[in-house]
Amino acid sequence: MTKLNIGFIGLGNMGGPMAANLIKAGHTVSVFDLNQSVVNELASKGAKAAVDAKQCATNADVLISMLPAGKHVKSLYLGNNDDSGLINVLNNNTLVIDCSTIDAESARTVGSALGKQGISFVDAPVSGGVAGATAGTLTFIVGGEKPAFDKANTVLSDMGKNIFHAGNIGAGQVAKICNNMLLSILMAGTSEALQMGINNGLDPKVLSDIMTASSGRNWTLELYNPCPGVMDTAPASNDYKPGFMVDLMAKDLGLAMEAAQQSNSSTPMGSMAKNLYTMLQHQGAGSDDFSAIFKLFSK
Ligand code: NAD
Repeated sequence: MTKLNIGFIGLGNMGGPMAANLIKAGHTVSVFDLNQSVVNELASKGAKAAVDAKQCATNADVLISMLPAGKHVKSLYLGNNDDSGLINVLNNNTLVIDCSTIDAESARTVGSALGKQGISFVDAPVSGGVAGATAGTLTFIVGGEKPAFDKANTVLSDMGKNIFHAGNIGAGQVAKICNNMLLSILMAGTSEALQMGINNGLDPKVLSDIMTASSGRNWTLELYNPCPGVMDTAPASNDYKPGFMVDLMAKDLGLAMEAAQQSNSSTPMGSMAKNLYTMLQHQGAGSDDFSAIFKLFSK
């Protein structure tokens, strides 16, 4: 396997373990984050600590970013109406892979600006959470030209198991929010059904077994049951410790609603789920796992 010079920017809950897996795979990894303590942690695992984003990006074969939102990604690559953007130091041998979950429009804006300078870009949001990032089993949902996808594939396979080519730049983001909108609807529906069963005298474990073997079967019921005590390994049985936070689901549902509006799509279920997750945030559960939506239904 080819060993590459990889720059990695954004070493938070997801980016930290992803960068660590690239080091384990034998690549030379230069890292940067605004938070110096996570840079130091990665340096102790064998990364080169860059002093700033520009040093991290210079001469990288592949540059990966894993940042909170679209505004961070746009400002990192394009600057803030100044020359601070990485677009000014990247050369056209560098492939840029943005793994953040952001709005598709920001991904297209960055991809198109870089593309005009001959720099390849793909958006590659992930599914699988911190556990998947740590285990190197993430799913990557990639948007971009086929040659860029093929090149990205070789690096992404050191951090993940399933790598999909969703379409052109921005398509990765669209596919990711379609998935998360559906997931939120399934989680809310599963919670509602389980609580109705409990209110009518059923044991939630027995009801879960019945529905898992019946037509109501779905991922949340089978692997991530939202009712405490049904599944030992699920966040619900660990006081809803995340997992995948309510705040992040609410963010993704906001992106889904923007995409629905831009494409004149009818998404009544997604819109209901967005409202439920916003209510949950208002109740102070933003840092809980997203399965805590069960609490909205419990008596
Ligand atoms: P996080 O907040 O833990 O990490 C983000 C990191 O980016 C922080 O360390 C922050 O200091 C750094 N950062 C912000 N702006 C920067 C800049 N300009 N330069 C350098 N560093 C900068 O977030 P996370 O949980 O790692 O999530 C990252 C992305 O992955 C988000 O878009 C999120 O929606 C997505 N995601 C998260 C999960 C999850 O379970 N946490 C799952 C799938 C996708």
